[in-house]
Amino acid sequence: MNPADLPPELAAQPANLIDAVRAIAQGPLASQAYAIDRGAYPVDVMKQLAAAGAMSAHLTRADGTPGDYGLAIAAMAEAAKVCGATGFMMWCQCVAGLYMQASGNPALMGERLARHVRGETLGGTGLSNPMKSFAQIESLLLKATPVEGGYLVNGTLPWVSNLGPDHYFGAIASVQTDTQGDGASAGREMMFMLRCDAPGVTLKACPEFSGMEGTGTYSVHCKDLFVGSEDVVADPAKPYIARIRGGFVLLQCGIAAGIIQGAIDSMWAVEGQLGHVNQYLEDRPAELQAEFDALVARIMKLAETPFDTSTDYFIDVLDARAHGAELCLRAANSALMHQGARGYLMGSEVQRRVREAQFVAIVTPAIKHLRKEIARLSAEEMPA
Ligand SMILES: Cc1cc2nc3c(=O)[nH]c(=O)nc-3n(C[C@H](O)[C@H](O)[C@H](O)COP(=O)(O)OP(=O)(O)OC[C@H]3O[C@@H](n4cnc5c(N)ncnc54)[C@H](O)[C@@H]3O)c2cc1C
Repeated sequence: MNPADLPPELAAQPANLIDAVRAIAQGPLASQAYAIDRGAYPVDVMKQLAAAGAMSAHLTRADGTPGDYGLAIAAMAEAAKVCGATGFMMWCQCVAGLYMQASGNPALMGERLARHVRGETLGGTGLSNPMKSFAQIESLLLKATPVEGGYLVNGTLPWVSNLGPDHYFGAIASVQTDTQGDGASAGREMMFMLRCDAPGVTLKACPEFSGMEGTGTYSVHCKDLFVGSEDVVADPAKPYIARIRGGFVLLQCGIAAGIIQGAIDSMWAVEGQLGHVNQYLEDRPAELQAEFDALVARIMKLAETPFDTSTDYFIDVLDARAHGAELCLRAANSALMHQGARGYLMGSEVQRRVREAQFVAIVTPAIKHLRKEIARLSAEEMPA
């Protein structure tokens, strides 16, 4: 990739990125967190976070300096501590930027990536289904038929987040036919950026979720959607996915980290008043903090080499992500035990965090999916 092709916004990240994210998180985001939980999509906050550089720290800079995955995860955690749904949408925006930059497609880089980095345009990812398909959990839902100059895509993705009428997201479709008659394209997948406003695309409202209602999540229906070369991320998709999968999964740890730290903080908040009785609970804040700090140190080490394509590295990333999800569930649940009735109020962040933690555990890769992949990859690594 030629650094000269990269947008100038990637030349330098603000040195005080975490301070800037914290100010947004504890100001406008905190005041909207309840409304987001009830279904309000926080477009202004997302744009402010993007403009502060919170969703582009992981991208390669204009001078060729590699992105900082650890910083991107820390920025996501600052917001997720206040609102897990926003942390999740930051991850969506982060990986959409990664897809565009790692594509090497000039049409997706340059001005389109620059606008994404500035937060003028927003996007997400529809890779749950392909990730589950590659792990033999379900089959691919989008089909691409080669036509003159591109593909016609058909099918429906049931849930894609951080969307709006003019947003976009990374998607993968199975290529249907072998037009050359030589078998070369059989069984191939292609990845592309799906524009929500393209002819043939319809966004439909999802049924009401128990959490994550403000995440701009829609089912996406494609009827003869034309995808030209300017939207192609990778064709074939699998070698590209092998390159970005570590970073894709690792970045999700930012959502978990914020939820865990927020839960621990809310246990300490009632310690003076309720410590005399809370001391009889499991998963006390000091214990959780020690386990969490060790996990963060591990994640930050993994974040130094996000493009390591070795199986061992990926197993480590999956394991850290699974530990994050499990700790999220324990910490959020324990925070509710610590806070009692005040934490059970509808307006309390403590019960909201329980639902956010459950989402971290079920969003792809879900805990069950992580364990299946770890088992499969570990078996492959075993000497015959
Ligand atoms: C709020 C929210 C936001 C999400 N955002 C994204 C996103 O941005 N991008 C993305 O790619 N994915 C997204 N997902 C999907 C998510 O990552 C998981 O893939 C999804 O939750 C299914 O995982 P699972 O482990 O339940 O799958 P499994 O347990 O393997 O089961 C899923 C299967 O069950 C069936 N199924 C699931 N729900 C229903 C239902 N209500 N009725 C009938 N059948 C059903 C489907 O056929 C599906 O194949 C989102 C999900 C939610 C709930």
